[in-house]
Amino acid sequence: MQTHLQSVMPESANFMRQVELNSTISGSIALGRFQRLAELLASDQGEVEASLKFGTCAGYACVKGSVTGNLKLECQRCLQPMAFEINSQFKFAFIDSEDEIELIPDEFEPYLIEGDEQSIVDIFEDELLLSLPMVAVHETACSEYMTRHEQQLKAEKEAAHPFAALKALKTEQDDSIN
Ligand SMILES: [Zn+2]
Repeated sequence: MQTHLQSVMPESANFMRQVELNSTISGSIALGRFQRLAELLASDQGEVEASLKFGTCAGYACVKGSVTGNLKLECQRCLQPMAFEINSQFKFAFIDSEDEIELIPDEFEPYLIEGDEQSIVDIFEDELLLSLPMVAVHETACSEYMTRHEQQLKAEKEAAHPFAALKALKTEQDDSIN
């Protein structure tokens, strides 16, 4: 690993205190610190760059966050690693009770403040989990074996159901027009 001059993101902070200070906290977060996310990655080596800017938005204590980096997911087709770029922004309005959820402006996500310290790592882990594709697959046919296998399956299917094949062919043609 190369050395970084920028700081490492703290695990947690007192968010309401950060709002009072109008502070910005930024730094890197090693992927290995995201325990839930790590299970979904092909590799937990590497890190993301993250920042949280605390302040007041539309009368609410709030935080604006951003996170960038590259994750390695496992392609569900060829099971090889695939790069997935993260470049995500979010805005939370802090609330003291769930009754306030309906009051906050639409562009903010509600964040219920409980206890003295709130987890910074969890905020980014949730954001990263939300950013992942439902199914990770390479955009191009990534496995020669699978490509051949699919062609073979298709050929067998067409032989068994000529009308279905005709319909599929028509759909493909329609798709190619769009
Ligand atoms: Zn693949």
